[in-house]
Amino acid sequence: MLFLDEVCEFPRSHLEALRQPLEERRVAVARVRATVVFPAEFVLIAAANPCPCGHLGERSGSACRCPEDAITRYQSRLSGPMRDRIDMVVEVPRLGGEALLSGSSEEPTALVRGRVAAAQARQSERGAAIGVTANALLRGDQLLDVCQLDPGARDALTAAGERWHLSARACHRVLRVGRTIADLAGEERVGRGAVIEAFQLRGQAP
Ligand SMILES: [Zn+2]
Repeated sequence: MLFLDEVCEFPRSHLEALRQPLEERRVAVARVRATVVFPAEFVLIAAANPCPCGHLGERSGSACRCPEDAITRYQSRLSGPMRDRIDMVVEVPRLGGEALLSGSSEEPTALVRGRVAAAQARQSERGAAIGVTANALLRGDQLLDVCQLDPGARDALTAAGERWHLSARACHRVLRVGRTIADLAGEERVGRGAVIEAFQLRGQAP
């Protein structure tokens, strides 16, 4: 796992260099005498503030004093093609003092862990025949077979694809996430709900 904290503080050229390994799961290092290829299989997780000061969009009377062009410059460090390769975006609101003291009402981690383990088992069992043991590793030409989209899911995929002018690569990414959502729910086929949720996680509702 590669975790980039404050991802918008990285030079754009460094972030762009991640595009090839993210897509091909290998990295080519070219020097004068030779080019060497190394395996680079990793999950990218990145955290970012909404603006340089970090207060943009806060509910309790915005304390952000960043000039508009500074915000645009900051957010554009993460280019369109780079965003295209990020499957899930989650906004995390700042917790007030009260929320911190009242404890968590979320379900226990052990329960979630059980659900994840069951989903992984389902993936590896299904993938054994084609030699792919994780949804993230499914190739474009394997996805439709493995997803078994129902008609509603097909409609949602087409509608969102047209609305957001998605590349084939982006649609494949949505299908991999949709397949995983269905696996977590223990469903054989990827339904409309899973496809819509996968788009919403990218911030692109159908
Ligand atoms: Zn700010």
